[in-house]
Amino acid sequence: MVKVNGHFCNGGLASSLHQLPVLPSYPTNSLEFLRTLQPQAENIVTQSAVALNIIIVGAGLGGLATACALARRGHHVTVYEQANQLGEVGAGIQMPPNSARLLLRWGLGEFLQGKVVEPTSVKFRRWQNGAEIGCTRLFPDHRQKFNAPYYVVHRAHFHDALYRLALKLGAEVEIDAKVREYDPETPSITLANGRIHTADLVVAADGEQTLHSALLMLIIGTGIKSIARKLVVGDDIPPRKTGFAAYRATVDVDKIKADPDIAWIVEHPNINLWIGNGRHAMTYPIASGKSFNMVLSHPQSDNDSTNSLPEILEEMRRHFKGWDERLSRIISLIHTTLKWPLYNLPRISTYLHLSSKLILLGDGAHAMLPYMSQGAAMAIEDGAALAHALHLATSRKEIDKMLRIWDNTRVQRCSQMQEASSINGTLWHFQDGPEQEARDAAMRWEVADEESSDLSQAGSSPNQWSDLLTSTWCFGYDAEQEIQRQVQFSVP
Ligand SMILES: Cc1cc2nc3c(=O)[nH]c(=O)nc-3n(C[C@H](O)[C@H](O)[C@H](O)COP(=O)(O)OP(=O)(O)OC[C@H]3O[C@@H](n4cnc5c(N)ncnc54)[C@H](O)[C@@H]3O)c2cc1C
Repeated sequence: MVKVNGHFCNGGLASSLHQLPVLPSYPTNSLEFLRTLQPQAENIVTQSAVALNIIIVGAGLGGLATACALARRGHHVTVYEQANQLGEVGAGIQMPPNSARLLLRWGLGEFLQGKVVEPTSVKFRRWQNGAEIGCTRLFPDHRQKFNAPYYVVHRAHFHDALYRLALKLGAEVEIDAKVREYDPETPSITLANGRIHTADLVVAADGEQTLHSALLMLIIGTGIKSIARKLVVGDDIPPRKTGFAAYRATVDVDKIKADPDIAWIVEHPNINLWIGNGRHAMTYPIASGKSFNMVLSHPQSDNDSTNSLPEILEEMRRHFKGWDERLSRIISLIHTTLKWPLYNLPRISTYLHLSSKLILLGDGAHAMLPYMSQGAAMAIEDGAALAHALHLATSRKEIDKMLRIWDNTRVQRCSQMQEASSINGTLWHFQDGPEQEARDAAMRWEVADEESSDLSQAGSSPNQWSDLLTSTWCFGYDAEQEIQRQVQFSVP
């Protein structure tokens, strides 16, 4: 099947299909069936007509994913990272279908082999007794619906896979290379050692370091925030405290298996999420099931400032006292944890400098609460969308226009994801009472047996993994296709 003037055309099928647009302008799944008629052409990567020299600042998940997306299209990419060794802080991370689809398309699969877990379900549980109050089937349902897996993975494995793919695709990565200054007009960067590097485009994927403050300050000896953001937005927009922090920890799977009351949690690869009472506990297996990841979100007061591990562990147990006995048993197996203050960046109106030669992406542009598990996924989409927008430029003259389309598309998508993440915080943290009861009643169809289920509610849910509209928008989104659509419908 070939594409002619934005329409499908396929020999004998042409008469029936030729009026269908490849990418309609309105939200619809009605043309999804056409995918089955398309040849498997995704592995054939065409090089961009305009090959650029691109600098990426920051080798976090966002910077490395962007390096992969750009290098595979033939751009010359160099990543500068301030840390003197590469790595990721924290343990587990979810890789939802909207990012997994892109990463697998680029060839990350071979580097993830034996590292990822594909959970069967996300199970929402009542805080007090662990009763199942909501459930989304990820495998096989989500995989089939969104044409991509939902993975959970150790951050270190994910980061290493991206690094190796970036190198394989021809990107260069320089460590111990802290960027001290940007010149957005040339554009160029100046490193701490005084060296200046110029390029056609500079991509700042320098994160929101305030999020990682305590630990990063230890690692890299600084607590500054994205310097590029100030240049792009023209103002110093600091991230806001959310009043929440998260304990991040892993538990030895063998210890869980040894306790018959909690062994069930590692028997099936599920994401289990206890919610209520101003807090939540997100848990899932990582490292092919060899480790068990926990993120325990709780209110943080300005007085919680201890750095003593025994005191932090004690405080963590206090926060979840009175919760499901089984969860408390798992928490008692945590012997070390990181306490992570959670920040939110206010929506900013542009990620593109006026010069069109410096852009922001990832947490530096749109740090969000981790409650949709989409922060890194948005950074990966940013990179995918950028590479695709540049790919659609047929000459250097068109690059400006493509970057503006990228900017509008990404600002809307990421600010909506910031909002969805905050909404999850509210939905999950209701105190017991009328709102919590109404929420649980509205999710009941997900767990009730067929006879007692009120199917009139099916399709809408306060569980945003199950809610049909939200999940299609969130997980069904293809960042490359969306850029294609925006370019197709842009005014010439
Ligand atoms: C508790 C928690 C759970 C989360 N769970 C998920 C999840 O399940 N799924 C998901 O998709 N997301 C999740 N996230 C969000 C995700 O971790 C972040 O969105 C993502 O890691 C951001 O990547 P980044 O590359 O934009 O920034 P960073 O990871 O912060 O990387 C920025 C890099 O730039 C470097 N840098 C900064 N300044 C300079 C400079 N001047 N010169 C050179 N280098 C520089 C830094 O050293 C760093 O390596 C979670 C976040 C938290 C806190």
